[in-house]
Order: sequence, then C-alpha cells, then structure tokens
Amino acid sequence: MSATRQLIEEMERKAISMAPENKAFLDKLARTKPKNLDRIIHKIHYEVFNEVDCLDCGRCCSSLGPMIFESDIDRMSSAVKMKTSAFKDMYIRMDEDGDYVFKEMPCPFLGHDNYCFIYQNRPKACREYPHTDRKRFYQVALKTYYNITTCPAVFEIVNRLKREMV
Ligand code: SF4
Ligand code: SF4
Repeated sequence: MSATRQLIEEMERKAISMAPENKAFLDKLARTKPKNLDRIIHKIHYEVFNEVDCLDCGRCCSSLGPMIFESDIDRMSSAVKMKTSAFKDMYIRMDEDGDYVFKEMPCPFLGHDNYCFIYQNRPKACREYPHTDRKRFYQVALKTYYNITTCPAVFEIVNRLKREMV
C-alpha cells in the first residue's frame, strides 16, 4: 500500500477523535498569530507534499467544490474549446452564497486515475488548496480545521505542526 493510502487510512481512523484537540490548537493559532508560524508550517507543507501523492488520493476533487471566478471560467472554457456561456450552462451553478461552483461533484474534470483533465487551467482555488503554504496562515487556521477530515496531507501537516509548536 502506498504511503498516501496509509495516511488516508490513518486519517479516517483518527481525525474525528482528534477533532477537539485539533480545533483547540488551530483556534489558538488564529488568536495568537505566532510570529514564526509561516516559516514552520511552510517547511512542513513541503516535507509532507514530498511524501504524499495527490494522484493516490483525489479526495478534494471528489468532494469539495472549489469556488470559481469568471477568470477561471474563461480559462477552463477555452481549454475545452467551448464558448463561455455554453461552459457555464453545462458545468457551473451559483450556490446559496452567490458563488460559482461546479454543478456536480466529483468534479467533471477528474479522471478515474485522479488526473485533472484541465490541470494547467484549473481554478485558482484548486491551485491554492489546501492553503497550508500561504502567507499569514493564521488567517486560514480555522478553515484548515475542516480540511483535516478530507485531506490526508492536512491531517499530517497539522500533526507535525502540533509537535513543533509545543
Ligand atoms: S478542476 Fe481539476 S483540480 Fe479542480 S476540482 Fe476539478 S479535477 Fe480537481
Ligand atoms: S485531498 Fe489533499 S492529498 Fe488528497 S488530492 Fe487533495 S490536496 Fe492532494
């Protein structure tokens, strides 16, 4: 079994029971904004993504709908050689918050092998997920809590971060 599949199993076994501890930890980071937080979490992010293979996972593309901007729709529609209006009709809806999202999940561009058919032109939100390498991580610490049960990389990043920040 690949390292990524092992990590997914571990996440599925432990993430729910660890939820209170993880929530308290990430809440504290959001409140206290430690000065060294970005340096530490960015290092861990790159270490973990050297070990995790997204092609062995695909969970974010199966279950989380990325927020989609007009510029994303322009890029995606030209990648699949469709008019923007036809692309919107076929793939896009507006959610209850007024944001564009894919009509259905799993994402229509996710292949059975977990490759993204439009990888070079995927939405900005897909490129940035799971946000553990962004600046001022404390601003997304609470959002990260909700990714711990979806993304095995986030599960592992938060575990390592807890060990380094004690
Ligand atoms: S566009 Fe690509 S990266 Fe984004 S959710 Fe779909 S398959 Fe995943
Ligand atoms: S859920 Fe995380 S590890 Fe899985 S494909 Fe998405 S970013 Fe990669």
